[in-house]
Amino acid sequence: MAKSFKAARNIILENVPPLEAESVELFHLVGRVLAEEIRAPWDLPRWDNSEMDGFAVRAVDCQPFARLQVEGYLPAGTVADGVFVRPGAAVRIMTGAPIPVGCDAIVPIEDTELEGNIIIIKRAVRGGDYIRSRGSDIAAGEAILPAGTFLRPAEINLLASFSRLQASVVRQPQVAILSTGDELVAPGEIPSAGQIIDSNSWSLAAAVREIGATPLLLGIARDNRDSLTEMINLGLKADVLITSAGVSTGDRDLVREILDNAGVKRLFWKVAIKPGRPTAFGLKGNKPIFSLPGNPVSSMIGFEELVRPALLKMMGHREVIRPLTRATVKGSLRNKTGKTRFLRVKVENTPEGLVAESAGDQNTGILSTMIRANAIAVLSAEQTELSTGEQVEVQLLNRDQLSGFEQ
Ligand code: AMP
Ligand code: MG
Repeated sequence: MAKSFKAARNIILENVPPLEAESVELFHLVGRVLAEEIRAPWDLPRWDNSEMDGFAVRAVDCQPFARLQVEGYLPAGTVADGVFVRPGAAVRIMTGAPIPVGCDAIVPIEDTELEGNIIIIKRAVRGGDYIRSRGSDIAAGEAILPAGTFLRPAEINLLASFSRLQASVVRQPQVAILSTGDELVAPGEIPSAGQIIDSNSWSLAAAVREIGATPLLLGIARDNRDSLTEMINLGLKADVLITSAGVSTGDRDLVREILDNAGVKRLFWKVAIKPGRPTAFGLKGNKPIFSLPGNPVSSMIGFEELVRPALLKMMGHREVIRPLTRATVKGSLRNKTGKTRFLRVKVENTPEGLVAESAGDQNTGILSTMIRANAIAVLSAEQTELSTGEQVEVQLLNRDQLSGFEQ
């Protein structure tokens, strides 16, 4: 019996634990997931400082049109020791410089007029204006980044601000990729009649790299027991093994048998999805093995829906499933399969919201429809036909490439 899509995905996610932690240098931390909690070792900012280029003053002296004598200069990077704002006077100060004794407000340059060594105040000034006080951003000891945080450039900035030269993050898996089939030749080789170029290894490697894991291209195993046994045993040395093709019911579809012989425990061998029905998942110890269909579109969608979440979970990500977003159907989207149906769609951002239309012929043999698509529409077995104006759930594959209306 084929597993339902959700049951299959749950079985996978329940059985793949996050990998262990490793220490990584600051430069390489972007895109990784923290395995430790980061606490602030000191206040940010570390001292009271000026938010603007301007003048350090006492707010009480600063009625509009007040004239203040400029005494002293505090550029960024200096210490304010010995600098003092006298009543009726001002100290020139640059952004980031420490606040001198006596000062309780900063007047930006553009709110003053300079006459020789005198400034004339043009706007009302209140105590605290343009002063960033010590610890106002982050207080020493605050647990600012919990374990599980995905590190973006913003988090890298914070780690650098705390002088962290390395951090503990979840290890990224090595993912062995094995194509199977007597008909396959590697790209670059000239296919003779009936031969097909192995493109799956490359799209799977690309998809693995895209999320930050490391692909190991094993190449092509032939449809015989010796070749498959040798290559699968090699693949089982990696953290994850993904095979493509050879899992249907053809007489040369031996992948299942060879995985059994290699001690891989089957958790499921069919999923009620289209494309991707002959997708299998097993474990050797706690090492996951995915067997995807050979058809290029099916293998890519199988990776997207079932393998990618597992790899993200292994890498410590909290959000492992692409969120479902609602879009309005344009044209017609059909599902006559009685299974969960993944349709390749084009989603456009319009002033009325997201609009999804079929990206073309949905036959699983058609690669160009995948090329035109920027999202996958997910139709349940019950959603047999959705027409213009109805709502459909879509997973945006690449938000950066959403065409149309600028938000
Ligand atoms: P199979 O699952 O072995 O019956 O393969 C299904 C279809 O996918 C066949 O047309 C294969 O030639 C094709 N196919 C299998 N493996 C690959 C591959 N690595 N790259 C491109 N096409 C493939
Ligand atoms: Mg085959």
